Amino acid sequence: MKITHIDCHILLVNDYDADACSSAQDDLVVVIHTDEGITGIGETDTNPWIARECIRARGTHCMGLGLEEMLIGEDPMQPHRIWSKLYSGSKMSGRRGAVICAMGAIDMALWDLRGKALGQPIYKLLGGAVKDYITPYASLLPTGRTLEAYTQSLVQRAIDAKQRGFLAGKMEVCIKGPYAHNTLSEGNDAIVEIVKACREAVGSDFVMMVDVAYCWSHAKEALHVLKRLEPYDVYFIETPLDIDDLDGYAYLAQHSPIRIAAGEWQNTHWEFLDLADRGRLDVLQPDIGRVGGFTEAVKVTQIAADRGRLIVPHCWKTGIGIAASAHLCAATACCPYIEYLPAELCDSMLRRELVRDELVMTQGQLTLPANPGLGIELNMEALARFDTGD
Ligand SMILES: [Mg+2]
Repeated sequence: MKITHIDCHILLVNDYDADACSSAQDDLVVVIHTDEGITGIGETDTNPWIARECIRARGTHCMGLGLEEMLIGEDPMQPHRIWSKLYSGSKMSGRRGAVICAMGAIDMALWDLRGKALGQPIYKLLGGAVKDYITPYASLLPTGRTLEAYTQSLVQRAIDAKQRGFLAGKMEVCIKGPYAHNTLSEGNDAIVEIVKACREAVGSDFVMMVDVAYCWSHAKEALHVLKRLEPYDVYFIETPLDIDDLDGYAYLAQHSPIRIAAGEWQNTHWEFLDLADRGRLDVLQPDIGRVGGFTEAVKVTQIAADRGRLIVPHCWKTGIGIAASAHLCAATACCPYIEYLPAELCDSMLRRELVRDELVMTQGQLTLPANPGLGIELNMEALARFDTGD
């Protein structure tokens, strides 16, 4: 079998709002085609126009090539071989960043294609399931441009998630620092008050994560607030510090009463080695599209397993990425949860409509994916409707 061409679809919701800081508003979806008619689907979570150019652009240097020109004619059944070829052939402009994100979409599609060709779900190609079900945590992004409205929206979404059967949920308390949402600019007291309000709303029998989106400039300030959050039983705190402050992360991981999590932006397993060994993180959060696909994500799970850490994959896109996270989780013992945007509680039409045959949740658990490859089908009508044609 040979790869014949790759389609790149840049998708965009028509009501996007850059201040909302939600990357579920756009998408780069790739479809890899073969001479035997079998196709594979992948997506990645970065600026889709930039990632598309990483695929389409040509090159004139043997280590500065475009991804598409290296991909055509390759055997899709050998994803490791292809990953090495693309990584090596793009090193001058790649190694990290958008090129790796684009490679992640391609690699995801290759594993989907290979699973379809072999009639096997991806988790079986990764070694098989080490659990009977997958536990999603509901990622809850509130609306509201005042602190009061933001808090009310988040509390209501937390209550809704619990009522819908979720066993766990993550509160996006993103109101301070460079990644503050909805143009909010609040202080540490407000963070503590929101977490307290959410815990009181959901009760004690609900696992609660908190994402503060890189809000603190200094580890000691962060630690001071984390100690104030300890009474509210937070499972992990996500990205408390700038992602380049690995010494700060190490200090926090050593002193914090709450697990420290990060990794949503990291590319390649080498960046996760830094997070694990220099940053000393408790929870590694690879995004399968961004880290470089299944080929790299599996290496990150091994880094966590070898060090007694946890894997909780990041995913803020569509049913494609959620399916990818589910396969990785099924095959990874140290992965207790996957990030999951509940379609009913998410404002993004892409999240709600792009994919058919989604996993079914009963009593807060997802059954293992049964169909070959990723096990999902694109809603072609929605794909055409959201396609920018760019
Ligand atoms: Mg986050």
